[in-house]
Amino acid sequence: MTKNNTKYIFITGGVTSSLGKGIVGASLGVLLKDQGHTVTLQKFDPYLNLDPGTMNPYEHGEVFVTEDGCETDLDLGHYERFIDKNLYRVNNVTSGMIFHEVLTKERRGDYLGNTVQIIPHVTNEIKKRIMASSQTEITDIVITEIGGTIGDIESLPFLEAIRQFQFENKENCIHMHLTLIPYLDSSGEFKTKPTQHSVKELRTIGIQTDILICRSTNPFPIELKKKIALFCDVTEEAVIMCQDAPSIYDVPLLLKNEKLDQVTLKKLSLDYKEAKLTEWKQYTDIIHKEGKPTISICLVGKYTTLSDSYISVVEALKHAAAANACDCKINLINSEDLENKKNISLLETCDGILVPGGFGDRGIEGKILASKYARENNIPYLGLCLGMHVAIIDFARHVLHLENAHSSEFKSTTSNPVIDILPHQKDIKEKGGTMRLGAYPCKIQEQTKLYDAYELNSISERHRHRYEFNNTYKKQFEEKGVIFSGTSPDQKLVEVIELKDHAWFVACQFHPEFKSRPYKPHPLFKSFIKESYMRKKLKTQKK
Ligand code: GLN
Repeated sequence: MTKNNTKYIFITGGVTSSLGKGIVGASLGVLLKDQGHTVTLQKFDPYLNLDPGTMNPYEHGEVFVTEDGCETDLDLGHYERFIDKNLYRVNNVTSGMIFHEVLTKERRGDYLGNTVQIIPHVTNEIKKRIMASSQTEITDIVITEIGGTIGDIESLPFLEAIRQFQFENKENCIHMHLTLIPYLDSSGEFKTKPTQHSVKELRTIGIQTDILICRSTNPFPIELKKKIALFCDVTEEAVIMCQDAPSIYDVPLLLKNEKLDQVTLKKLSLDYKEAKLTEWKQYTDIIHKEGKPTISICLVGKYTTLSDSYISVVEALKHAAAANACDCKINLINSEDLENKKNISLLETCDGILVPGGFGDRGIEGKILASKYARENNIPYLGLCLGMHVAIIDFARHVLHLENAHSSEFKSTTSNPVIDILPHQKDIKEKGGTMRLGAYPCKIQEQTKLYDAYELNSISERHRHRYEFNNTYKKQFEEKGVIFSGTSPDQKLVEVIELKDHAWFVACQFHPEFKSRPYKPHPLFKSFIKESYMRKKLKTQKK
């Protein structure tokens, strides 16, 4: 039996990947939370990596970092932004974690001579994790998203586990399935067959969905719901249309109109009261207001074909733009292009430059160049982690004239390692989960741009790095106008630098993007956008 009558919603996906199970789950979370329920979200990822920390962002998009230092799937970022709540290690489970746990127990002899099998050992371990997601607080509703698409071999143990979980907790569980209703131009019709097949596939593994969420490019006729209901064995009210929306932040409102929360609560035997969504509506009103000025921000990175690689940064910029009553156009620039003198004109015409976090030396010189360009041309600059490292390298090379200045991450033999490996990282050999990860405190110096942004003396931000500013160079930097405005409380680690004689040049060792929320924009992003907007206004006045 479940504890405290916690209710469980399992979301699976069919027909194709990338339908947005994460956004749907997070949106449902928003609707339920607004009605006073304590909600948490959890993601099951069927791959064998212990976490996505070792995966290339091209493969998997951004690695999101939680307060407790877990490297997780980017959907956790959506969850946190939508339900405005910090999530933890228990909220992202991979097949790798499950198998690791089972095999560790096997080696320890915990299974007392039994043959270790997918059922029951792996499925039991999964069921334990479902329960664990609500252990940190009394939770009314747990929403669990199963990654992948029905039919994938990888997700079978998870599906079997949620089937069993519902069998054992009938009153407290429902299944939700997200599919696609494609529109065929040639016949001028919406098609339900892929959805029927997907529901059938789900049934072959013993799961009958209670609610069907149907993605479509445009609204489909109401009669189609009847047909889907009949063929897929769900009530008509439980066929929810989810058409494409201009912004992901429209989805909670869209699903509210479709009464997803009402149907869900009814099926879970919980009371429904209409969600007000006051702040949510205010936020979406701002983002859709026409005629807002648009500022242009250059995001200089190396994963430029997939904006998912920088999803939290992109979302944080959007939140901050809304707070400044403007729109933000993001030009994703490949730093290798800058090295080849391509796209420099985008830097010249933009209102702000942002260099996000990153690893590996591909494109590093282009990022240094972008930071130099912002410094020399008084363009607002926000550097995030590696974005701080490149700012330091540029300053060392071009202002302090330190020959070959570099980060020892990229050139271990450099005579001037202005960025160097953290002392406790020196002997670490294993790559996965071994960086300085998660929330750490930072002390802020008053009368700095950093203080102006936060209006606080001490903050806490999330980290993900192995390298840091090399304190032996601190005095030289200070003498030439670098302010070390944020440090660890013991002052041993530099957390934030800024430039004295510059419009707004702030670079931090941490990742503020992970803590931005739609209607609670992050102070650093808000200030960065404010200054970029100011620059745009000044440029327009001069013309
Ligand atoms: N590669 C750098 C380090 O490990 C920066 C990491 C980051 O940008 N998150 O320190």
